[in-house]
Amino acid sequence: QGTLFVLATPIGNLGDLSPRAAEVLRAVRAVAAEDTRRTLQLFSHLGVPAPRMISLPAFDERGRAGAVLERLAAGEDVALCTDAGTPGVSDPGQALVAAAWEAGAKVVPVPGPCAAVTALTGSGLPSDRFLVQGFLPRKGAARAEALRFLAALPCTFVLYEAGNRTGATLADLARELGPRPAAVARELTKLHEEIARGTLPELAARFAGEVRGEVTLVVGGASEEAARAAAAPEEPLEEELRRRL
Ligand code: SAM
Repeated sequence: QGTLFVLATPIGNLGDLSPRAAEVLRAVRAVAAEDTRRTLQLFSHLGVPAPRMISLPAFDERGRAGAVLERLAAGEDVALCTDAGTPGVSDPGQALVAAAWEAGAKVVPVPGPCAAVTALTGSGLPSDRFLVQGFLPRKGAARAEALRFLAALPCTFVLYEAGNRTGATLADLARELGPRPAAVARELTKLHEEIARGTLPELAARFAGEVRGEVTLVVGGASEEAARAAAAPEEPLEEELRRRL
């Protein structure tokens, strides 16, 4: 069995590709890529010819995993890369890594950029405990439920969001969570990097218009009392009725 390298790639600034990641990319016999064209750019940046590319799109990760397992079974080393950042974090990867373990392949993570961790560490919000929520459901009951869950969370959380949905998401968060401290991290590691800090209502007002580029949101957790109140089970009906008698 070959080795599956789970390899993090830059989230904007190519200088963030680690020397070790570059070394692995130069050495592997194949690359499993979320978007092969995007990953080929890394090889032109490195100035080396690309090895065999295996497409591993998010919508068909399981379907395509077999092609990667075949290479591993043939004794070839394979690097798994997503478009940007760390595979498996709101990106394809987890199912392939689980399948590789199951098949008896060696799995080696090659750490590097991750938008969630980069935004968190630049935000100044408490980072001793945190949750990466990823993208919020776009609408309906699933979105309402996710917001309720986040409102009760006693630790900092990180959300990914598309630029054009940032205003709507900040408005929903401000309405449901009130004046919590938060940060909007935009275009991290790129030329127009911006980290704006403020309360949720302040940030919702500031980013209400068009927001360009890639955005990650970091939001402070509920106070202990708020979390306890939100998590407290409702009074059982029986008890309430007894009290009323
Ligand atoms: N796996 C990736 C990682 O580890 O960073 C995250 C993948 S997720 C599909 C993409 C989202 O990450 C974007 O929609 C945006 O919310 C966030 N993101 C990616 N690059 C970013 C950047 N340079 N600045 C701010 N947020 C970024």
